[in-house]
Amino acid sequence: MEKIIETKNLSKKYQDQYALKDVAVTIFKGDVYGLIGKNGAGKSTLLKIITRLIVPTNGKVILFHSKSNKQWEQNLKRSGTVIEGPSAYDTLSAKQNLEYYCRLRGISNSKEVIKETLKLVGLENTGKKKYKNFSLGMKQKLGIAIAILARPDLLILDEPLNGLDPIAITEFRKMIEKLNKQRNMTIIISSHILSELYQVATRYGILDNGELVKEISKEEFDEMSEEYIILNTVQVSEASRVLKEDTSYPFKVISENQINIFGKHHQIKEINQLLINHHIEFEEIHYFKQDLENYFTNLISNNKENIK
Ligand code: ATP
Repeated sequence: MEKIIETKNLSKKYQDQYALKDVAVTIFKGDVYGLIGKNGAGKSTLLKIITRLIVPTNGKVILFHSKSNKQWEQNLKRSGTVIEGPSAYDTLSAKQNLEYYCRLRGISNSKEVIKETLKLVGLENTGKKKYKNFSLGMKQKLGIAIAILARPDLLILDEPLNGLDPIAITEFRKMIEKLNKQRNMTIIISSHILSELYQVATRYGILDNGELVKEISKEEFDEMSEEYIILNTVQVSEASRVLKEDTSYPFKVISENQINIFGKHHQIKEINQLLINHHIEFEEIHYFKQDLENYFTNLISNNKENIK
């Protein structure tokens, strides 16, 4: 698989504190790479270094196979970025803003490019409405439209989901899918809204305290994320006996009032009935699947334990 970005031992130090420490990320062609981390984890710092807005203290970035800083700089032309919010003009409409940026960047056949871009981000019907009167979701879309005018191979978005309402988030997700699939764009999205990032991204990089704790693909994550049925009962031994004798579900006794049964959501009904038939009292029975949120929380707390 072609590597679009590779960082090696990348560090950034402010006074005596590391904002990034020995970070080695690998982003492959076609990835929608979700950069996850709490506030202050180092997400913006990493993206700003990649785009040469700030200089690393140590380490290197290889962008589209660059072999020198000069090539890295040149290859940045193949990327579009929205870092620190969209930069559009308040008194101009979406179309006028794009016309301005086309002129600035010397983009030919601008009429066609603008029409296509507005449609791609879903701003084709905004008419004369000025940027200053746009909703946050519309502003975000225009920022992305500006970033993709020159049809980049790589799109870098820093916290694009911040402040968006659920409808705007759904539209954002569809737009990212289109850019990734139809335009073959590799996309990096940083966020702390994990549930949304889970839906959008195909690989994740988890940053904590400036360190890359884990890189994992969506498939790997789905495969390893556990799912089970949690049964809360004071009759743990009786329930265990019934499960063993009358079902083939593997299970594990977790405590004196909890059993985890490794089964699927739809099997709850059958287990429920079985317990009733055997007059076993239980307080609760429910399905649990690990999501990105609890995976992330566990990883981060393990990382803290290791740091101690
Ligand atoms: P957020 O979601 O809050 O933007 P982040 O994950 O993007 O968080 P960064 O902005 O990369 O985090 O910041 C990482 C760390 O570096 C933080 O502790 C931050 O305070 C520190 N930092 C960032 N920029 C500077 C600076 N110019 N001077 C000193 N410290 C800085």
